[in-house]
Amino acid sequence: MPSCVFIDLSGTLHVGRQPLPGAIEAVARLRREGFRVRFVSNTSSKGRRRLLAVLQEIGFDIAYDELFTAPLVVHRYLQRHKLKPYLLVHPDLMEEFADLPQQDPDAVVVGCALDHFTYANLNRAFQLLNRGARLIATGRTACFEGRDGLQLDAGPFVAALEYAAGIEALVLGKPSPGFFEAAGEEFSCPGDRITMIGDDAASDVGGAMEAGMRGILVQTGKYRAGDEAKIGRPGAIVVPDMAAAVDRILSGD
Ligand SMILES: [Mg+2]
Repeated sequence: MPSCVFIDLSGTLHVGRQPLPGAIEAVARLRREGFRVRFVSNTSSKGRRRLLAVLQEIGFDIAYDELFTAPLVVHRYLQRHKLKPYLLVHPDLMEEFADLPQQDPDAVVVGCALDHFTYANLNRAFQLLNRGARLIATGRTACFEGRDGLQLDAGPFVAALEYAAGIEALVLGKPSPGFFEAAGEEFSCPGDRITMIGDDAASDVGGAMEAGMRGILVQTGKYRAGDEAKIGRPGAIVVPDMAAAVDRILSGD
């Protein structure tokens, strides 16, 4: 079975609508060398179809069924447990959940809602949690690299709701090892044959390594000097960017 390479999106392949230098060719090179390449992301500011359209527009050769995202895992969880969500997410992500009943919500789903993290929306979530709704998050990521520097992701808002309601969220995206295991199953690739590449030391690299995968941290996107310490375990590979990550994979060490 060919080895699998899981790649994060934002900060690893692109920042906003700008591909990172060498990233398009690095993905193409992995494919030419026979690796199975898949894209695993907590991105929750838009649905998979819109996300894919943006990636293709900026030059990446990626297919719809190669994308594995936290909102997809959340959708499956809601369906399996027959939960009705209140969606504290960006409007562009709503379509991903449009097939689920949303009257009388018994779950609060938090994604990266950006400007839609308003007092009214957060307070509605808080009140539902107080009435016993489950708190489900696409991720616990603190921030991502935006056009003008680091931007708040969903994590700090999840923490605020946990604090206010005195409960703990169920995190279904990275860094949950369950997310990486589900991605491995989805693509029929055992964990010990998977290498995960990402710019988030804790979420991408630490999480994947906890699930038994190999982790490569790229020093692009949100990476800041000293982030290696956040991986939380020894043995990760740290390289400047995607091109260097692919060099390391192809060199076989
Ligand atoms: Mg990233």
